[in-house]
Amino acid sequence: MVITELKPIEKIWQNIADFRKVLVLGCRGCSGICSTGGDREVKLLVSALNLIAEKEGKNFIALGQTLIRQCDPVALKVLPEFLKEVEAVVSLACGVGVNLIADLYPDLKVYPGTDTLFIGAHVGFGVWEEKCRACGDCFIDKTAGLCPIARCPKGLLNGPCGGSQTERCEVNPEIPCVWYEIIIRLEKRGELASLDEIIGPKDWRLTFGEGPRKRQREDLTF
Ligand code: SF4
Ligand code: SF4
Repeated sequence: MVITELKPIEKIWQNIADFRKVLVLGCRGCSGICSTGGDREVKLLVSALNLIAEKEGKNFIALGQTLIRQCDPVALKVLPEFLKEVEAVVSLACGVGVNLIADLYPDLKVYPGTDTLFIGAHVGFGVWEEKCRACGDCFIDKTAGLCPIARCPKGLLNGPCGGSQTERCEVNPEIPCVWYEIIIRLEKRGELASLDEIIGPKDWRLTFGEGPRKRQREDLTF
């Protein structure tokens, strides 16, 4: 899922302090699941913004709504209903939701209420870790299912780097050396010899090369 975190409230307030009515828009997709933009967080942010406004003597009110998703035009179809009275929207979705709202409603002032961090997994209560950088050409069939692009600070396609003296990463001792883990797993599987084959240079154009990436499935297009 896409991992997000709430922006500091002062930053959110800076963008909207001069409006009179603002909608805080939550998302029950990824940001809801990682407790950044679900119903609860929308309610909390609405209360906090209204309290700040009261304290500053502003004629301001924040309202709240949560959509099932913000990264899908179908789910956004109900948005105009909520926009009737408001001057701006603070989106608690990831950056995808904010972008799509800006694409679909060019006259609307929409502001991000979150920072989008990475694609990751929930690995413990309140803990998420990055697992994939969406490179567009997955090769972790060769690395025992562990992604060195996302999990090795040097992003080495062939490792380890030689800097690690232990099982920990030399760049960041807080994390395990993923290449150490890859080798241990391949050894257990009896597949260590597969590392004799050098993984060739990646075609980074698939990741960064030609602007925003697009995928079109002919079987779903009509
Ligand atoms: S190689 Fe890593 S970054 Fe690329 S798609 Fe696979 S898991 Fe994601
Ligand atoms: S110690 Fe391991 S994880 Fe850290 S940079 Fe070197 S190869 Fe990558």
